[in-house]
Amino acid sequence: MTTIEFSHKWDEGSILSSAATCLDQGEILYTCQYDSTHTKKEYFTGNHSFTHHEAASATCTENGNSEHWKCDVCGKCFSDADGETEITEASTVIPAHHTLSKVNAKAETCTENGNSEHWKCDVCGKCFSDANGETEITEASTVISLLGHDWNEWIVIKKPTASENGEVQRVCNRDDSHTETRSFNFAFTETDTTWTINSDGGLTLTVKDITDHFDPFDLFKGAFVDETGLEENQYTTERGSFILTLMPEYLKTLSAGTHTLRIDLEIGGTVVSFEKTFTIAKSGGVSSPGTGESSS
Ligand SMILES: [Zn+2]
Ligand SMILES: [Zn+2]
Ligand SMILES: [Zn+2]
Ligand SMILES: [Zn+2]
Repeated sequence: MTTIEFSHKWDEGSILSSAATCLDQGEILYTCQYDSTHTKKEYFTGNHSFTHHEAASATCTENGNSEHWKCDVCGKCFSDADGETEITEASTVIPAHHTLSKVNAKAETCTENGNSEHWKCDVCGKCFSDANGETEITEASTVISLLGHDWNEWIVIKKPTASENGEVQRVCNRDDSHTETRSFNFAFTETDTTWTINSDGGLTLTVKDITDHFDPFDLFKGAFVDETGLEENQYTTERGSFILTLMPEYLKTLSAGTHTLRIDLEIGGTVVSFEKTFTIAKSGGVSSPGTGESSS
């Protein structure tokens, strides 16, 4: 047995109604060429009307998008120009975002500011306290001010002489590689250091730090004449830099001739001594300093 299958032979079809847009439905009528009473209808939709959206990068403040085609009529989006692969419009959006780099926390030191951990945008420079750039903060608020050195007291590392300055140094409590060195030297300012017996006033001597780093008044430990320590009622002191006056009552007890005044100053536990000769002169006559001679 043979089975013979029949099929229609459809013509090219005729459009009953056209579709102007993708939202319209068109109709085509097909007629069988064997038997014109055999007909069928097919429906079709019109074309989308696409706008091409180029890819656009997101910025710090504005969204970007991937390349896509959007129909002006139905609003559908497609990833291809033929409208074959439909995508959601939301999937084309590249949200605005900052380009954040993490700034690690840094401890403050004696000489440099530190900062707290934060994130900074490479593009716009804004700072955030979180990696997602949600909480904006000022860069200034991340700064932790430097500490400054925490100096120990000055220590004498080289004693001065009449011709050479001495040196003091201090070391930072936080880091002993932090040091500061200063020169210093003390000198008497008076040139005429003669006291005439029976004068009313005393003999005043002024000591200054010639490098202006120290006020000798704050360092004074004691005064000596010819290696004998002076009693407190034998002299007075005042600031400016350091003014020591030998009292006339005391000077009267000294013999005529040359004497040596020594002043001890203490810096960081080290005593630094300075000497000055002075002369007690008889009234009406003068004893020449340093020679031991006297005339009368
Ligand atoms: Zn047919
Ligand atoms: Zn459409
Ligand atoms: Zn930014
Ligand atoms: Zn320091």
